[in-house]
Amino acid sequence: MTITLTQPDDWHVHVRDGEMLARVIPYTAAQFGRALIMPNLDPPVSTVQQALEYRKTILSALPEGSSFDPKMSLYLTDDTTETEVKAAAQCEHILGFKLYPADTTTNSSSGVTRVSSMMNVFESMARHGVVLQVHGEVADPHVDIFDRESVFIDQILFPLHQELPDLGLVLEHVTTRQGVDFVKATNHFVAGTITPHHLMYNRNEMFRGGIRPHNYCLPVLKRETHRQSLVAAATSGDPSFFLGTDSAPQTRSSKQSACGCAGIFSAHAAIEFYAEIFAGLECINKLENFASHFGADFYQLEKNPGKITLNNKTKHIPESIGKDQGAEASDDDIIPLMAGQTLSWSLLLDS
Ligand SMILES: [Zn+2]
Repeated sequence: MTITLTQPDDWHVHVRDGEMLARVIPYTAAQFGRALIMPNLDPPVSTVQQALEYRKTILSALPEGSSFDPKMSLYLTDDTTETEVKAAAQCEHILGFKLYPADTTTNSSSGVTRVSSMMNVFESMARHGVVLQVHGEVADPHVDIFDRESVFIDQILFPLHQELPDLGLVLEHVTTRQGVDFVKATNHFVAGTITPHHLMYNRNEMFRGGIRPHNYCLPVLKRETHRQSLVAAATSGDPSFFLGTDSAPQTRSSKQSACGCAGIFSAHAAIEFYAEIFAGLECINKLENFASHFGADFYQLEKNPGKITLNNKTKHIPESIGKDQGAEASDDDIIPLMAGQTLSWSLLLDS
């Protein structure tokens, strides 16, 4: 079986910088027409000028002839100004600001400490049509880690949406039924991205036969009932839900450690993971809207002109992705999602 889709976009991806950027960006560029690049570098990408420099670095790391178009999200900090919002609104390469409540995930220590003190910035974003991409978790260590998304929605996101109903909001990497319900209950200014790993796994997958550091991500995997809500949302045909992998490369040594880092790398087979999930539910015909149309519509962009073709030929996922192909396994390797396993879909790129 073969299916052809409008070339998809990845509306949430981490490509890091330096050597790691060079290693991972070809995977995203091989599948997607565009991607929204997350700004949590150290130091964070918090101004238009920094984002344009980062974008240039990404472009220079692309394989020859690639037409991949990186779109940028700026890191919202306590110091973000309305002037910066205005500048972002005028730049075609920038699609929004990313709200990391301080200390919720990788490199989030510069994040916003009090959302309520940022209302003038949010008002300015609503006025200029700039979208707020939200890491939707509270940072309070007293809140159970599995409840941090639903508490964030109740305490912060829902009140923010009520106060500014025409502020564009994306609840990034939705992981709970409450997240799905929030996106469904609100207006067309609100959307949610869904990752392949939250569609594939529930939280048991972190502890299957022992601790599985490569399946640890933030927001953390949740119970099976939440996974089922995500699957229903992704395959429902509701245009408020679209593809965002949250692919987040880490080295083997930073994952396999006494205090391992969060992040799951999925860019090597992103569209195939989604195809596997949709095909498994006998709704592969819903994949194109989710992967290629709804996100572009939300961001008011043209759909990609190119096409991709998937066929159900098996694809073997390598055990690791090293700095140099064919090199010995090392601490610097990335362990990809489903390492060593086989998928039943493969991507063929139309040239
Ligand atoms: Zn992310």
